Amino acid sequence: MISAVPFVGRLPPLSRPGNHQPNSSPVQFAARPPRPRRRREAAVAMSRFWRPGSDKPTAAIVEDEEGGVVFLQSSAGSSSSSGFGYASLERQRQRLPVYKYRRAILYLVERHATTIIVGETGSGKSTQIPQYLKEAGWAEGGRLIGCTQPRRLAVQTVASRVAEEVGVRLGEEVGYTIRFEDQTNPGMTMIKFLTDGVLIREMMEDPLLTKYSVIMVDEAHERSISTDMLLGLLKKIQRRRPDLRLIISSATIEARSMSTFFNIRRKNSSLESADRLSNPEPAILSVEGKGYTVEIHYVEEPVSDYLLAAVNTVLLIHEKEPPGDILVFLTGQDDIDAATKLLNEEIQHRGRHYLDLLILPLYSGLPRGDQDLIFAPASKGKRKVVISTNIAETSLTLEGVVYVVDSGFSKQKCYNPVSDIESLVVAPISKASARQRAGRAGRVRPGKCFRLYTEEYHLNKMQSEGIPEMQRSNLVSCIIQLKALGIDNILGFDWPASPSPEAMIRALEVLYSLGILDEDAKLTVPLGLQVADIPLEPMISKMLLSANNFGCSDEILTIAAFLSVQSVWVSMRGVKKEFDEAKLRFAAAEGDHVTFLNIYKGFHQFGKSSQWCYKNFLNHQALKKVIDIREQLVRVVKREDLF
Ligand code: ADP
Ligand code: MG
Repeated sequence: MISAVPFVGRLPPLSRPGNHQPNSSPVQFAARPPRPRRRREAAVAMSRFWRPGSDKPTAAIVEDEEGGVVFLQSSAGSSSSSGFGYASLERQRQRLPVYKYRRAILYLVERHATTIIVGETGSGKSTQIPQYLKEAGWAEGGRLIGCTQPRRLAVQTVASRVAEEVGVRLGEEVGYTIRFEDQTNPGMTMIKFLTDGVLIREMMEDPLLTKYSVIMVDEAHERSISTDMLLGLLKKIQRRRPDLRLIISSATIEARSMSTFFNIRRKNSSLESADRLSNPEPAILSVEGKGYTVEIHYVEEPVSDYLLAAVNTVLLIHEKEPPGDILVFLTGQDDIDAATKLLNEEIQHRGRHYLDLLILPLYSGLPRGDQDLIFAPASKGKRKVVISTNIAETSLTLEGVVYVVDSGFSKQKCYNPVSDIESLVVAPISKASARQRAGRAGRVRPGKCFRLYTEEYHLNKMQSEGIPEMQRSNLVSCIIQLKALGIDNILGFDWPASPSPEAMIRALEVLYSLGILDEDAKLTVPLGLQVADIPLEPMISKMLLSANNFGCSDEILTIAAFLSVQSVWVSMRGVKKEFDEAKLRFAAAEGDHVTFLNIYKGFHQFGKSSQWCYKNFLNHQALKKVIDIREQLVRVVKREDLF
C-alpha cells in the first residue's frame, strides 16, 4: 500500500475537495460513510499517498524562495527543547529573538514616526515589544500603548500571556478590548491589546486617538480589511499628531512598499518644526529568526479529500516519526470538529500506542478553558495534535510543534459585486501562507511539513501572495465607518490597496437604498449616524433601528445578539440523531431567527442552567454571551433614544 518513492509531486494539480464543503456540518460528515469501519478503511486507503516516516532525499529538499523553507539556525541561545514550562518567564523572554533588538527597537521608535518590524512568527513581536515600550516609559502620564490584531482570539491570548509575563491580573495594567468585551481599566491600563476594528471605532469618539502614545499594528501582512483601513487612517492621524509613534509589525511584509506608504513628508511647515525630533521617513528593522530547517514533503497524487488525508497523515506521523507535536491546518470549525472526532475514534479503535495522542481543536470562538490547553505543554509521553484554522499560521505560536500537516486550504472571504453576495469559502492558500505554515514546524528543532498537495501544484498553480481582503469584500461597513469619521471623499482615500470601483459603487448604492446615505453620499440624520454608531453589520443595525416602528424591538434585540456569536450549538458531542432531535425541539418553520427566539425563551425558562444546555446540545458559554451582548445592545439602542 505504501509507496516506496518519497512524495515529490509529479502529478496533476490538486483537485478541489469534494466532500467537505464549508457548510457541511461535522455530523453530516460523520454520517456520510455509513459505518465507522468504512471510514477507517477510507482513511487507511489514503496512506498510499504518503510516507511520513521516510526520510526525504537531500536533493529533494526545496530551499529556494519558490516554496522551500530555509531558516538559519541561530548560533546563540536557541535550545533544542522549548524550555517552555521550565525556565522562568524572564529567562524565556530573554531567549526570544527580539530581545537582542530591544535597544534598537526603542531607539527607532524614539526617532522615527513609523517603524516597520519584520520578524518570523514566534520571535516575540506581539508579546515583547509592548512590554519594552512600557519599560521605556511610553505608558507614563496615563498614556496607552496600543497593539492591534486582526483576530479576536489573538487579542485575548496575547493579552493574557503578556499579563502573565508582567505578573499582573489581566484587565488591569495589561488589558484587552474586543467587540462586546472590554477588559481594561481606565486609569490603570498601560498596555492595551485590541482588534483593529475596535481601534477604528475608538476614533469615532477620539478622532486623533489622543490616549495613545504608541500604536503597534500587528500582523499587518494579513491585510485584513480593518488593518488596511486602519493603516490609511493612522497615516492621516500622524499628520496631525507628530508625537504619535506607529509600529507596523508582521511576519512577512513587503516592508518597502509599506515604508513608501508611510513616508509622510509633511507639507505643513509649522508641524515640521514641532516635530524636528521624529523622522518622517519610516525605519525598517528585520528581526533575525531562530527557526530550524524544515523538510517539505508533498503528496504524490492529488488527494480527493483533504480531511481524511490529514487524519491519516497524523496517524502515520505518530506511527513513524520521533516525538514532537503535530499542527494540522484545516479550514474552519466544522472540518476541525470532524477531524477531531475522526481522530478520537481512530485512537480508541487502534488502542495503546495511539492513546498517547492528545487531540486539540483551535479556532476562534473556542471557550477560554480550551484555549489554555493549546498552550500548555503535553504531559510526558503524550503527543499533542493541534487542529487549527489559519490562526496558528502567524497569529499564535505553539511551542513544541515539530510536524505540520498543511491541507492547502483556508476559509476566505469572497465578494461578488454584481450579485452583492459575500461568502466565506474554502479556497486554496497562497505560497506565502504555505511557507508560513511550514515554518511552524521549525521552532524547536528541525521539523517536517507534509503538504497535502503536489509539488507541481505548489510550483505552478499556487498564487505567490494572497489578495488583500479589501479587494474581495463587501465595503458597506467600511464606507459607513469612513463617512462617520468625516472622510467624504472615499475614492480619494489613501488605501494601502485600492478596493475595486465596482465594489465601491455597489456599496454606495446599497447604503443609499437603505436610507443610510443621502444623494450627496453623506450620512443621513438621524438614521445614517445611528447605524454608524451601532457596532453591528449595517443591515442588522438598520433592522434594530426599524424594529421600534413595528413594535418588535424585544425580539429583534435577541436575534441581533444571536447573530453576533459564532454558534450556539455544540455539535461534536453525541450522535447525529440526538443532535438533530435537539435542534428540532427549537426549530421554527419561519427559519433560524425564530429558532433563536425559542432557544432564548427556553434558556430563561430553565433558569439559564448549564444542565439544560447540555441536554439540548447548546453551548452554555455562547448563550451567556448572547445575554451579555443583548444587554449591551439594549444600552446602545437606549442611547439612540429608541427603546
Ligand atoms: P510573534 O508575535 O513574533 O509571532 P509572540 O510574541 O506571539 O511572537 O510569541 C513569542 C513567544 O512567546 C512564543 O514563541 C511562545 O514561546 C511564547 N508565547 C506566546 N504566547 C503564548 C501563550 N499564550 N502561552 C504560552 N507561551 C506563549
Ligand atoms: Mg505575533
